[in-house]
Amino acid sequence: MPEDAPNRRELELERLRSPEIARAIEEGVHTAVFALGAVEQHGPHLPLFVDAEHGTRLAVEVARRLGNALVAPTVRVGCSDHHLDFAGSLSVRPETLEAVCRDYCSSLAHHGFRRICIIPTHGGNFSVLAEMLPRLRAELPSCTILAFTDLLGLVRHWRSSIERTRPGMGARVGGHADIAETSLMLALHPELVRTDLAEAGYQPELSRASFERIIREGFSTVTPNGILGDARGASAEMGNAALGELADLVTRVFEAEADRD
Ligand SMILES: [Zn+2]
Repeated sequence: MPEDAPNRRELELERLRSPEIARAIEEGVHTAVFALGAVEQHGPHLPLFVDAEHGTRLAVEVARRLGNALVAPTVRVGCSDHHLDFAGSLSVRPETLEAVCRDYCSSLAHHGFRRICIIPTHGGNFSVLAEMLPRLRAELPSCTILAFTDLLGLVRHWRSSIERTRPGMGARVGGHADIAETSLMLALHPELVRTDLAEAGYQPELSRASFERIIREGFSTVTPNGILGDARGASAEMGNAALGELADLVTRVFEAEADRD
């Protein structure tokens, strides 16, 4: 490999040097992947950056599976108004997130990326992304913009993944700071997880209407401890399995969308 060719294992754009990126694009790396995360409460036992850190790791895994792809920095703060009753949660308005996505995508297109894949890892970003997509696409006709917008699919996928790894535990997935997200953090940042404080929260019905209602009315109206589901019984093993399987699912969705294009 020539000296300044991109390290095959290093996919994060911001960790590379500009000449390495120029070379990669020249050599056919035309896909950019990035996540829309959040910095918001995740119960009494997890740090605020769960969705942002999960996003970066998931984007790297998806980029690796897609091939010829680099990972742009995660948009770390998302639409989290429904968490503002909990200390520390940060939130941007939908129009702010849309403006950031638009400018991000146009920078990436400017450098020669032709396909942009966007992955939300925070519930409040899914519908905002789905709504802005037609406008993003209209503004950047030189790029194919693909997005994973199936929040319910993500939560159902977590449930079946946890159930596969630890039979009987899938029912503890509720979509927020639950056994799945706690397991993810045990895989990514075990030093920041207080498993001794992990507890059960409110178990929502896994339906679109129920998630939309919680996002509209706020987490504090249904879950005093900020958890949807049950955080107990998490493990790094379940976290690694859930991460890999979700990356497989998201990659399949992007590949199917690209084929249709
Ligand atoms: Zn989360």
